[in-house]
Amino acid sequence: MKIAQIEVFQVDLPVKGGVYRLSGEREYTSFDCTIARITTDCGRIGWGESTPFGATYVAAHATGTRAAIELLAPALIGMDPRQYDRIWERMQSTLSGHRDARTALDVACWDIAAQAAGLPLCDMLGGRVSGSVPVISSIGGDTPEAMRAKVVAHRNQGFMGHSIKIGASEAQGGPALDAERIRACLADRQPGEWYLADANNGLSPEHALRMLALLPDGLDFVLEAPCATWRETQSLRARCSLPLLIDELIQSEADLIQAIDHDTCDGVGLKVSKQGGITPMIRQRNIAAAAGMVMSIQDTVGSEISCATILHIAQSTPRRLLRCALDPRAMVDISIATLDAPIVNGGAEAPSFPGLGITPDLTCLGEPIASYWGDP
Ligand SMILES: [Mg+2]
Repeated sequence: MKIAQIEVFQVDLPVKGGVYRLSGEREYTSFDCTIARITTDCGRIGWGESTPFGATYVAAHATGTRAAIELLAPALIGMDPRQYDRIWERMQSTLSGHRDARTALDVACWDIAAQAAGLPLCDMLGGRVSGSVPVISSIGGDTPEAMRAKVVAHRNQGFMGHSIKIGASEAQGGPALDAERIRACLADRQPGEWYLADANNGLSPEHALRMLALLPDGLDFVLEAPCATWRETQSLRARCSLPLLIDELIQSEADLIQAIDHDTCDGVGLKVSKQGGITPMIRQRNIAAAAGMVMSIQDTVGSEISCATILHIAQSTPRRLLRCALDPRAMVDISIATLDAPIVNGGAEAPSFPGLGITPDLTCLGEPIASYWGDP
């Protein structure tokens, strides 16, 4: 089986609720989504997606994603999409870095490989762990009262995991506001619930230490991605008794190994388009598991294609190390594909159809904006 054609589609994904706020006064109203469709010489079709979280999250932006695919796609024509390590090496030798761009192509190859095997993707990634995957709710930065109300609303939908966004600037209220946000969100905590306070790299160690000093003892939560650099994170780690989960700082296998070597954290947030697709995700999942780290399986943001990818990876992750998965469908106000994975009592199951198990709506995608082919 050989890759015969790669087509690229572009769709805008408006933010559900109008605006999403992160630390550093970052605001997002829409995400620019790139979708790849790979067709093989035997007519099999696979889909993959990469949707950067704007241009100010990690070093990726949507027009860059598509420019990088312009280099990567022609290099993959004629290759066997099932040979995921060979595909990854070819992308590596064609263009350094740009994991976001590799993602759409890598995922589409995995979709084809699983369809060809007649298996749902999770069964290609180690096998389905029975039961639904716990999905985390995401609470954007807001007033403490509004954030507490959102936790209650999500709890009423069955969610057991809650990600609380912190990182208020001094003008917005600084460490005192962040401490109030955490107190408010945990005020009605129920047994079995799991909380993350996620700063998305937006705190200085000084901000984090002031915030923590304002909190009462005994609050059960994990501090996620407090600082933007390794030095700051390591400095805080030495002076903080809370468990730490690192997200944006860990993109490559080398980053993860550094975190393990320096004992920087207790868990890791793995995001499909941040790590570079399924191939590096499963490598990093194995490394993290060997180090005893808990994992949050996510993507930066995305459509049903991204959601299906997350669910298959999470569905095949050992449950004792899986804290939660992200449902990006909850973050955007558009549906571009069918995906039979409803959230029931705060969890979802990867579909049982072969491959990713999604069917894109071609009227939503429109015409391809780029197409690459050649003699396989
Ligand atoms: Mg995070």
